[in-house]
Amino acid sequence: MLGGIAINNKRLLAANAENKVRLSILNKAYLKYLNNKYYILFEKMKSCERRYYCNSLACAVCVNRIQKEITYKYINYLGNDYIFVTLIFYRDKIPVIKLSKFNPARLKDKLRKKLKAIGFDKPIFGSLEIDLHLYKNKGDSYYLPHFHLLMPNEQLKFKKLRDYMKSNSNLQGRIGVKNRPMLVKRIDNLEGIIRYITKFMWCEIPWYLDNKGKLTHGSKRRISNNRLFADSLIRLDKLKISDLLFKCNFQ
Ligand SMILES: [Zn+2]
Repeated sequence: MLGGIAINNKRLLAANAENKVRLSILNKAYLKYLNNKYYILFEKMKSCERRYYCNSLACAVCVNRIQKEITYKYINYLGNDYIFVTLIFYRDKIPVIKLSKFNPARLKDKLRKKLKAIGFDKPIFGSLEIDLHLYKNKGDSYYLPHFHLLMPNEQLKFKKLRDYMKSNSNLQGRIGVKNRPMLVKRIDNLEGIIRYITKFMWCEIPWYLDNKGKLTHGSKRRISNNRLFADSLIRLDKLKISDLLFKCNFQ
């Protein structure tokens, strides 16, 4: 039990430290661009405290608390035969300037219909995330939506799902690089995976030309451009947890 308390304390400390970074970036964005939206979110998160939580998805402390509630609520629906699946929708990439138009409900409805049509009938739980694929030319950059799902391991249905993910219309969403639209992994620690998929921190994948002139990408990291990071927080703040969670076949 003590172990659990120690882990919780560690997570809260990390969330507090993360919020400090976020507040500093919001402040910088406000001072540079003098747009009130940054200041309003800065004030909201700064005054977040016990008894008066801001409940914003931009707030690492509130997300940390929400993650705990989600884990308790959903973990018992998911069986031992479950596996961890990531589905990437290249065709639905979102240009950076259209982030405010990002519509989670449309993507979730489309996927839910497909999963049911394939025949999945046990509970599937997960989340919708987007990563910023950042190119040297900001205009080429986009957010790439993907689902992290905890699914029953049903091989025949997976084959159909893989065919759907590998359809031309999806792969043509991004030409010139190798696309891997469906990744499947074994689950070692269900609670750990639920926490991983409910971080709701949109990250950056930097793309650049290597010294042979080949397009390549670096590893996932915090969004490096302060304005884009601040804008991602602004967008997260406008979303509810239910917008980003994915549920299928829950009664
Ligand atoms: Zn908060």
